Amino acid sequence: MKSQPSATSGTEIPTVRLPTTDRPFDHRAARFRLLARVSSPLAGYLDLMAELADIQAGVWDNVAAALPMTISRLPESPGWRTTLRSIADRLSPGKAELASLLDRLRRAADDELAAWGGRVLAGDFDHTDTGIVPLVAAALQVHMTSLAARLPREDIGLPQTGSVCPVCGTLPVASLLQTGGAVHGLRYLVCGLCGCEWHRPRILCVHCGSGRDVAYFTIEAGNAAVKAEGCSACWTYLKIMDRNKDPGVDPFADDIASLALDLLMAEGGYRRLGINPLLVPRG
Ligand SMILES: [Zn+2]
Ligand SMILES: [Zn+2]
Repeated sequence: MKSQPSATSGTEIPTVRLPTTDRPFDHRAARFRLLARVSSPLAGYLDLMAELADIQAGVWDNVAAALPMTISRLPESPGWRTTLRSIADRLSPGKAELASLLDRLRRAADDELAAWGGRVLAGDFDHTDTGIVPLVAAALQVHMTSLAARLPREDIGLPQTGSVCPVCGTLPVASLLQTGGAVHGLRYLVCGLCGCEWHRPRILCVHCGSGRDVAYFTIEAGNAAVKAEGCSACWTYLKIMDRNKDPGVDPFADDIASLALDLLMAEGGYRRLGINPLLVPRG
């Protein structure tokens, strides 16, 4: 794999942007809370995700001390299991269904946790209880984001296919139109697990590359900064969030809050390209 630097000088566009080491989960928790107040049908789930992001933020500083560790070996690591068990201990049980999931997590043996972690890391959500996936993914996100944020620049490859993360191979959760400096107005895809961003040209379909068949969809009552970019050549879509219109958008939180847009796209026959491991569709 050819390596290339992600930092650039002058007007060159950074191909890959690593996540920040500056407590990235604090912002997400606040965003989930804000969206819970304005999105009543989903308020319960958004509040739960705010609480989950608070726990991610709370363990962030300890996680850095448990590094280094390669991403592929993460599910076998004691540090990751500790994070997952802290989530099970700290999350408010709420409804009976969640209480029994948390109980299952607390009682799970090390190798069972490793198997769940391995499957979520591999993008296999079909063989793990859909209720457990967001909790396992949240624990992975903390460690993977911390690792990715500290990656040496020379270890970062070029995006190989465009639609998977060049650092960990996970599908994107959404696109972000960035704001500020050299990246102003550029489109970056955001990894669903490690938080890295990779550049893709705007208007071109992320999946098939078509530029003629792309259209943008919104829902009337939704945030105008959140759209679905659908392609009628390959019938896929990915959400695109514009930080110039709303600087506070968070790809994970705003994706869940705009679930109505996913329903609209499914009705139109589009298949979702990305994955948000914090909300795995059932079935
Ligand atoms: Zn990644
Ligand atoms: Zn396409």
